[in-house]
Amino acid sequence: MRILVVEDEPTLRSQLTQMLVAHGYVVDALDNGVDALHAGIHESYDLIVLDLGLPQLDGISVLQRLRQAGRNTPVLILTARDNWQDKVAGIDAGADDYVGKPFHSEELLARVRALIRRSAGFSSSVLRCGALTLDTRSGRVMESDLPVTLTSHEYKVLAYLMHHMGEVVSRQDLTEHIYAQDFDRDSNTIDVFVARLRKKFSRPYIQTVRGLGYRLTDIDNDGN
Ligand code: CA
Repeated sequence: MRILVVEDEPTLRSQLTQMLVAHGYVVDALDNGVDALHAGIHESYDLIVLDLGLPQLDGISVLQRLRQAGRNTPVLILTARDNWQDKVAGIDAGADDYVGKPFHSEELLARVRALIRRSAGFSSSVLRCGALTLDTRSGRVMESDLPVTLTSHEYKVLAYLMHHMGEVVSRQDLTEHIYAQDFDRDSNTIDVFVARLRKKFSRPYIQTVRGLGYRLTDIDNDGN
């Protein structure tokens, strides 16, 4: 899962980035509204964490222009704790949720997980694909109620596929959503992670769609 963090205050920006990276997210961090708008339109993110008071272009304008450009990426805005006007303006501009500053990291992480999961159409924090379950809170993966141990990269690949269940996901998509931008991205490694994941499950949940990528399906219930 790839998140864009937009916050001009350097300490908070680095705290947010470290916290999200520590919880398995790939993070791009920016410090102004102009770059944020450009990245939000041209890059693919699972969520944007957006401060409202930003240099060059304020957060509300960034949000309005993103929505005008047809981008429906979930947006979590950071507002001053007591400023209800900001919350109203943010939600009117198309924000999906807000967190008041200062916030507890657990609250922010819970809202991040919920927004990503809801935008993928899931209401529960435990995602299910047949006998396979992934708990987005604990990061635990089970098959038929037995724990499956995954490396962090294997988990990231599986979590992305589970959030896009039934859809064809390209190698490039997976690469963009599991590696940071400055990482030496090699889409061949995706094939390696998928091969390892397949070996860890007793059923073939991950299908190869020739020339296009991978698709996670509940093989017992997809009607094919
Ligand atoms: Ca600010």
